[in-house]
This record gives sequence, C-alpha cells and structure tokens, in this order.
Amino acid sequence: MRLHSTLIAAALAAAAGVAGAMVATGLPGPAFPDFGNAAAVKAACDRGLARATAGVRRLERLPPERDWVAAMDDLNALIEDVSGPIFVLTSVHPDKAIRGATEACELRWQDFSSTLGQNEKLYRAARQVRAQDPIDREFLKTTIESFEDAGVSLPLAERRRATALNDRITALAQRFEKNVRDANVQIALTPAELQGVPPSLWASAKRDAGGRVRLPVDDATYLPVMQNAVDAAVRERFWRVDNQKGGRVNLKLLHELAQLRLAYARLFGARSFADFSLRRRMAQDAATAGRFLDEIGRAVGERERAEVQVLHDAKAQALGRPPATVKLERWDVAFYTEQVRRAKFAIDQEAFRPHLPVQESLAAAMRMAETMFGIRYTRVEKPRLWHPEVQAYAVSDAASGRPLASLLVDLYPRAGKGSGAFVWSYRNSSTRQQRLPQALLVTNLDRRGLTLEDFGETLLHEFGHAVHNNLSATRHASQGGTNVLRDFVEAPSQMLEDWVYDPQVLALVQQVCPACPPLPEAMVREARAAKRFGSGIRYARQALYAGFDLGLHGADAAEPMALWSRMEGATPVGHVEGTIFPAGFGHVAGGYAAGYYGYLWSEVVAADLRTAFGSMRLDPVVGRRYRDTVLREGGQRPPQTLVREFLGRDTDARAFYEELNR
Ligand SMILES: [Zn+2]
Repeated sequence: MRLHSTLIAAALAAAAGVAGAMVATGLPGPAFPDFGNAAAVKAACDRGLARATAGVRRLERLPPERDWVAAMDDLNALIEDVSGPIFVLTSVHPDKAIRGATEACELRWQDFSSTLGQNEKLYRAARQVRAQDPIDREFLKTTIESFEDAGVSLPLAERRRATALNDRITALAQRFEKNVRDANVQIALTPAELQGVPPSLWASAKRDAGGRVRLPVDDATYLPVMQNAVDAAVRERFWRVDNQKGGRVNLKLLHELAQLRLAYARLFGARSFADFSLRRRMAQDAATAGRFLDEIGRAVGERERAEVQVLHDAKAQALGRPPATVKLERWDVAFYTEQVRRAKFAIDQEAFRPHLPVQESLAAAMRMAETMFGIRYTRVEKPRLWHPEVQAYAVSDAASGRPLASLLVDLYPRAGKGSGAFVWSYRNSSTRQQRLPQALLVTNLDRRGLTLEDFGETLLHEFGHAVHNNLSATRHASQGGTNVLRDFVEAPSQMLEDWVYDPQVLALVQQVCPACPPLPEAMVREARAAKRFGSGIRYARQALYAGFDLGLHGADAAEPMALWSRMEGATPVGHVEGTIFPAGFGHVAGGYAAGYYGYLWSEVVAADLRTAFGSMRLDPVVGRRYRDTVLREGGQRPPQTLVREFLGRDTDARAFYEELNR
C-alpha cells in the first residue's frame, strides 16, 4: 500500500507539473507498486480510474490555450502511471488470482479509453489549440487523429457502434491471448525418444509414473527439440501440439475479430481495416505494404526454393533413400536446417551456451549500451517486485552522473508467465515534467546459457526497445521512446541483432566475465555464414505471415483457416491438414493487426541505420549521435525525419538488398 501511494503521489506531482521524480528502493522515479493480493489490485484500479476521471473533468474545463497541450500530456502521464504497472503484471505475475484481477482492470481501462476517445469537448479543444512549435504540432496531430480514429467525429449512432465494436474487439483479443497463454501443454517422452535433444533441457524435468519425461511445449523447449530431436515422430508430435495452440475456438475468435475490424473501418469509409490502419503509418496504405511484401517475396523466392531443395536432399541422404521418394515435412525444416548448418559450417548453436551464461550475457549487453551511448547501469539490490528473480537497474548518464531511467529485467520462464520476449515501456520520459522513463524487459531464456541466436535476436533485440524507452528525453510523455509509428518501432532493435557477430561486442562477454570460456572467433564466423543459410526460408516465412495478416484484414475479412491453408499451401513445403497455426498467432489477434508487415518494413530501415556504424559497431561517437537524433526524440518527430538527420540522407532499401544478396 505504501508503495502504491508513492506511485499516486508521483503521478499527482507529475500531473501538477511539479518535478515528480523521487528515489525509492534506489531506482530513479517511483517504485513499482507491490500488490499483496487481488483485492489490492482491484482497489488500486478503482483509485486509478477515479483519479483519471477527475483529470478528464479538469481538462474539460481548461480553455484551449497555450498550456492545453501540456495539460493533455499530464493526463496521459497520469493514466500511464496508474494503469501501466497493472497492465505489466498480467504478463508476469506468478499469482493467478492477481493476474485475473489485472485482466479485469484492463477491461475497465479499455472502457475508460473508449469513452475518452469519444470525448467531444477535448476533441474540439485539441482542434482549437494553436501549436507553438513543430513538437506541439506533432502532439496535436496525433491527438486529433486518435480522437478521430476512435469515432468522435462520426454521427451519434455510428459513434455508439464504434464504441461497441471497439469494446468487443478488445475483449475477444484478450480471450484469444489467454487461450494461448494458458495452454500449458506437456508431452510425455521416454529418454530414448529424446535422442539428440540436449539432456540439460530435460534431465531435471518432472517424470510421469512410467518414467517418461513430461516436457512442456514452450519457448524454451520448442527450438531445441525441433532442431535436435533425431526421431521424426517426436518432432512431428511436438510441432503438431505447437500448431494447435489456442485451439479451434481461437479460429472463430480470429475470424470474428477480422469481421469486427472491417466493420469498424467501414464506419470511416475505408475499404479495409488494413487501409484504415496503415494511413497513419510510414507505409500509408495496404497496397503499398502489399507491393513491398511482393518485392521481398520476389527477392527471396529463389533463395528459399534452393534452400528447401538442400534440406530435401539432406533428408534423403540421412534416410539413405532416393530424393524422389522422400518428402520434406514442416517438422523437418528446423531439424535439417540445423543438420546442414552443422555439416556445412561446423556449427552448433547449442555449443554457444557454455560461452554465454545468461546473467553475464545480460551484463555484456549492458556494457555494449554503456560503450555506445555513454551511459551506466547500476544494479539495485533486493528490489521488492513480483518475483525474487526480477532484477532492477538504475540507468545514468556516464559523463554527468545524472539519473536517466530505470530498467527491470525478468529473464526466466515460469508457469503463468507470458511467452516470448518483450519490453513494456510502462512509464515514458518527459523533460517538461522532469519525468524519467521506466521499462521492463521480459525474456524466457534457458538457464543453461544462450545460443548466439538468443543473444542477438532475443537479448540484444529487446535491449534495443529498452534503450529506446530509457534514453528518450522527449518534451511530452505521450511521445516518449517507443511511442513511434508501428512500422518503425522494431528498427532500433533489429539494428542491434546483427551486433552479435562483431568480435568487439563478443569480447564484452569476456570483459564482464573473465572466467567464461572465450568464444573462438572461427565459431562466430561460421555461425554468421550458417545464419545466411536459411535466410531465404526465414524471410519468405515472415513475408507469408505479413501477407496473411494483410489478407485477413483486407476488404472481405477472409475466414482465417481457408486463407492460411491456401497461402501456406502455395509455399514449397506446403500446408499440413488439420493444423491450425493462426489459432496461436497472437500478434495478428492483438495489437499487431494489419501491422505484422512492420517487422520487415523496419528491417529495411534497420539495415540502413547499420550503415552509419560501418565496421565500428561500438563507436561511441556514432552511438552518441544515434542516441541524440533517434532514441532521444521518440515520437516527437516523424521517423523519416529522425533517420534522415542521423544518416544525413533519406533512408532507402539498398543496404537491405545488399545484405540479402551477399
Ligand atoms: Zn521487437
């Protein structure tokens, strides 16, 4: 309770325009609230909603003059403070009752947001305010657009319909996610069936009465099993279970979601939800995004077919049968990709684990950010958070010692925790309020250590989001850090993924952990070459996901399974009858609807950003310029402008295609 009132006090101070940063448990900014039970969440939710509602009433009475923008941003900051930590806990809190309470609270906030989005008084005021400079103009533009996208300028009956559709979409998307998260499937396998799978993955797992290993199908086990299980029947069982995640009920939910989103877009005269949504993005419309995906598809198609052929031949050879009598199955792709990589490049991702212990890899990622951006991470001892393993760091400016931000880190999988890896920017910077940002980095890493892929694609990737939040210093909290256009937000993270192949970056592991066995340079070089093998399949798969998402949110809201089986059926490996991949595709059900193409779109930007560093990945001068021109600016200027400022020219796709064709 005490911690929570600290939070409210900070929010109030912030809302009143007073310097709100206070130090608790050694972290810059307010402490994370400690809810003892579900009732405490409910009480905090009640208080938060009451405060926010009062804030709206105050703002409604404010004349649309100069300080209106600041007051509107203060309201957004207040909402962020009282709701952000509660939303975070839905993905990470070990107590199911608390997660239930935070989910219930999320729904109430959704009601609040849709009512706020329809607030005519605030919308009219936003349109009357005269921006004093480009930053405020951008703020007002985004504010007015989000009011309009919420339906405030529609006739009354359609506005009601917009609200009803929105509420239903949120509720269905939440149910979809829950069905995936709560799946908790296990497969019972004998040690003989697990041949090839690293024993450290399953040796300590629970056994059933018959002595069989009960292996969970989750982020930590999926790839190691698919890449290593020698027994094809085991891979098939594992793959099929993973491709049933969410269940058939989720296919219905997904179809209904697509139809509801189409109905929503139609209220605004848009042809499809994709067009409605993309008009606010870098891509501008669905046709442009579609052309972009086609272009990528053409660029990688040849490579994909060639790689599939190599895998097919590898399987035939392994089975000692003529290629014509062998079929490459979906559950063979990861396995034979790994076999070919090992044979061709003498590489084994598993072999990296002893070199990359989890905690030391995290320390190396921090050292990387310290070197590039001129910052310092200081660990805070024994923070009171939702689980004893969650870590807390204070981030400061190395030169001045000035506190900049705080970062929480939750590394390991456990029951009830959301899958995958992600960053929650639950508090955003505002120089106007002297408000320091806070983020939570969540991963589900294997305790045995990281593969090189984990290090780059998971840890460094998420680190990109974390520094985007932590190092932004925008005037308004609403524009802080990762509050940028959806098809740009991945670029800073994707840029860093490639850093794992840099010897200087890998040397940092040695620097923070002299006792760690050094990484042989040849092993990294081979890993990079191996990574290139499979890139055709990987990019084609990403383009397939993105095309499916655009198709689902197209002009006819296609039935998901019909669309998916047709699209996947047209790929070289084909579709497997009876599997329902879309039922577990949370991105498309949730916030990434019609936005999945953004991963590829921003990858093109990321490749271009990398050109500024050349071969000096840790260059502190370029890093500092990047911090000041891109990270610091968050969403207060359009991404095209930030990238132009950083690169000294307009962004283009040359670097991306050069890397692809190398
Ligand atoms: Zn990301």
